Amino acid sequence: MNPWFAKTIILVGTVAMLVIPASLHRGGGIKVVRSRKGPLERGLLALTSLGFLLPLVWVATPVLTSADYPLRPIPFIAGILCIGLGLWYFHRSHADLGTNWSITLEVRERHQLVTHGIYRHVRHPMYLALLLYSMGQSLVLPNWVAGPSYLAAIVLLFALRVGPEERMMLEEFGKDYEAYMTRTKRLVRGVW
Ligand code: SAH
Repeated sequence: MNPWFAKTIILVGTVAMLVIPASLHRGGGIKVVRSRKGPLERGLLALTSLGFLLPLVWVATPVLTSADYPLRPIPFIAGILCIGLGLWYFHRSHADLGTNWSITLEVRERHQLVTHGIYRHVRHPMYLALLLYSMGQSLVLPNWVAGPSYLAAIVLLFALRVGPEERMMLEEFGKDYEAYMTRTKRLVRGVW
């Protein structure tokens, strides 16, 4: 298959990933009252940005062509499905979190614990969205470096951030978050 099919999907996905938060989160103006943006968090943010940008480098330049492999229809179609599902979850979780969203570990003024909508059964639907999206990208993009770059960064982000994030939420919302934890799973409804 012509790699331009993959390039088109990567470009459309990237634009959607940027437009969704920009159009839905209105928390930019709300004061941050608690931040956990330490060196680990800064490192994770830098790594996820790099993982997100490498596919664009592959689209726009020949720098990574030595790691290319042929594009095949089955992984390409499976990847589009993962990207579509990931974007749907990404949109839903942004819509439900509203002004409580933040790119990093922060609590804002009048921060509310969201337990409705897509947050009703799982505590981290946005991370699930990012995992699905990045898995899709690694299937669609026929390059050993740029393909899995975002997935590797997101797996690391999830592994290292989810514990501190839940501790921060427990400190902020106490018994409410404890009760929320007992009736929900981390990523997949009814499973884990
Ligand atoms: N982990 C969540 C949210 C990611 S955005 C998910 O994957 O869907 C990260 C920010 O969301 C954190 O700074 C935290 O303040 C906020 N947050 C996480 N869970 C929340 C919830 N249930 N209600 C309100 N804010 C939440």
